[in-house]
Amino acid sequence: MEPLAIHGGPPVRKAPYPDWPVFGVEEQRQLTAALYSGKWGGTGERRTGERPVIEELEERFARFHDAAYGVTLVNGTMAILVALQAAGVKTGDEVIMPPYTFIATASAPLLFGAIPVFVDVEEETLLLDPDKVESAITPRTKAIIAVHIAGAVADMTRLKDLADSYGLALIEDAAQAHGAQWEGKGVGALGHLGIFSFQSSKNMTAGEGGIILSNDRERIDRAWSLANVGRVRGGGWYQHERIGWNLRMTEFQASILLAQLDRLKEQLHLREKNAALLEELLGKVEGIRLIRRDPRVTRHAYHLYMFCLSPDRMRKASLSKFIRAVQAEGVPVVPGYPPLNRNPSVLRSIRDWAGEDRLQSCPVAEELADRQVMWLKQPILLTDGQGIRDVARAVEKVAAWYR
Ligand SMILES: *Cc1c(COP(=O)(O)O)cnc(C)c1O
Repeated sequence: MEPLAIHGGPPVRKAPYPDWPVFGVEEQRQLTAALYSGKWGGTGERRTGERPVIEELEERFARFHDAAYGVTLVNGTMAILVALQAAGVKTGDEVIMPPYTFIATASAPLLFGAIPVFVDVEEETLLLDPDKVESAITPRTKAIIAVHIAGAVADMTRLKDLADSYGLALIEDAAQAHGAQWEGKGVGALGHLGIFSFQSSKNMTAGEGGIILSNDRERIDRAWSLANVGRVRGGGWYQHERIGWNLRMTEFQASILLAQLDRLKEQLHLREKNAALLEELLGKVEGIRLIRRDPRVTRHAYHLYMFCLSPDRMRKASLSKFIRAVQAEGVPVVPGYPPLNRNPSVLRSIRDWAGEDRLQSCPVAEELADRQVMWLKQPILLTDGQGIRDVARAVEKVAAWYR
């Protein structure tokens, strides 16, 4: 057996994987146009009389996701907060969400005293388990956040049914799911409101940024107002009908995002193609378990490619040891999220707002995060066939050593 790179043997791969972000003359052209338009902020009109790029982005991004309306904002975290408030969630209300997600899903409600209630994920998909949602609903529950983790799509059919029958708002955290589809329909407006992030690591980026999508005119207007110092669309400049923030995106960000949106389709296609090859190759590695893709996910955004160690078949290595060994082979695999139901600052904040400790155990998410799940981040899926075969070769080599 060939010695592992971590033991001084030759690594499987020496060539680097693709850098992120991907950009070029199109971003440059759009940025320069925004600069010379003399309109840099997200209000008013261009000197040249053209309409703001932000409006064009909101329209095109919404259309790409089969949604009627979009409102851009500063980032995904504030997009979640605004979406919750636009859906009527208030201080003290409970919001059901999975624990296996970025902290923003929980911190957004906690920033105004709404309480996250963690409901465990499905072992096969790492997505919110619809079987466990119903028993977590109380008279205080106002919303469910479906997190489309990794760019997969949570079971929107069942979650929509549950939300409808209990009169709850259904919000999609699609920060990792630009372009993903459920049964042929774009994510973002499958529930009442959906949010996306354009932070540096996401599949479409302007460094920072966010957007809310919806088919509901009233809710999207409320979101716009909350992000625009309480103004009303079409109203006066100093007409403030509620207390809101200034969370506007700039024209520079929107300009870059228009160019990024043009790249997204092709990149989605490449990520799907490479993920399919990975699936085929990693599926043959003994001791590795693949994440199940629901056939109703007709397009997966692959912000992450997640796969699992089967701990009972990999007796000689812990997850962290396995990951370090694969990294040494030249493949930048990383461990994933620690579950939020154990995050001390989340628990402290819940206690502060709710006035009591609310320990919530999520054994599936905890076991998966502690002992099983690892990620490849999205830029790696923009590599060529050789890059993908090297991932599989490195994983197979390390698995052969430790099983
Ligand atoms: C990135 C991310 C967010 C937050 O977006 P920001 O733009 O970084 O504020 C929220 N939820 C998930 C699942 C994310 O991955």
